[in-house]
Amino acid sequence: MRRFKLNLPFFRGLMLFLAAFFCVLALQVNAVNSQTVHSEIASYRPIEVWRAAHPTNFGKRFSKDIYGKPTNNALVAVIHETVISATDTIRVFQTRHDNEADQASYHALITRNGTIVHLVSERNRAFGAGNSVFRGPNGIETVRTHRIYPSSVNNFAYHISLETPADGNDNGNFHSGYTKFQYQSLAWLIADKQIPASRVTTHKGVDRSGTRKDPRSFNDRHFSSLLQRYSQLNQAKTASQPPINLRKLGQPQ
Ligand SMILES: [Zn+2]
Repeated sequence: MRRFKLNLPFFRGLMLFLAAFFCVLALQVNAVNSQTVHSEIASYRPIEVWRAAHPTNFGKRFSKDIYGKPTNNALVAVIHETVISATDTIRVFQTRHDNEADQASYHALITRNGTIVHLVSERNRAFGAGNSVFRGPNGIETVRTHRIYPSSVNNFAYHISLETPADGNDNGNFHSGYTKFQYQSLAWLIADKQIPASRVTTHKGVDRSGTRKDPRSFNDRHFSSLLQRYSQLNQAKTASQPPINLRKLGQPQ
């Protein structure tokens, strides 16, 4: 009987060929995936709606602190979570609160499906983080605008809150996290406001009371990479547009 004899050179060649083939295939799949992600990011445009907060729940941004010192801080994005549902949160902010201790608001809220709900104009001061300080590239930033309450970041903050999942409607330390659409809308909104990554923080990050831990279960790495991509896209979009005065001098609007 003729014994099967392994042809070693042929076998090695076949293995090399298969290894190379799968490498090329993996690279191809990766390229297609990253192209899909890129075009998804480039074409992403969240739904935006307005649900104005009651005027008792926000104020004007002050040009001077209570000591008369001019305030010229650039915007800082402060990320929160609602803990309760988006509907209940909006209801609280649309309710008149004459008692200062009950007055609260964010500038915007992002629902589970990624809808951006605007509550307070960027021009105004939302009451999102009392007794707080921002430690950034320019050092310590906090502004006192009230003779009773401690200084806070509210005068230069842009407060954005993520709707908490149902399993986080308690005081626990974790929950199942935020949706893909919430991360995309959050990054899109911060890029749209042209707030640099170095001026993005969380309520927990600025809180001095030691009581705030939001946003819980937040994927910082995923968000940072999305913000970088949306900011680059936003810069490219801005750079490709002619300056406003040139546009006015050109074709009639
Ligand atoms: Zn908060």
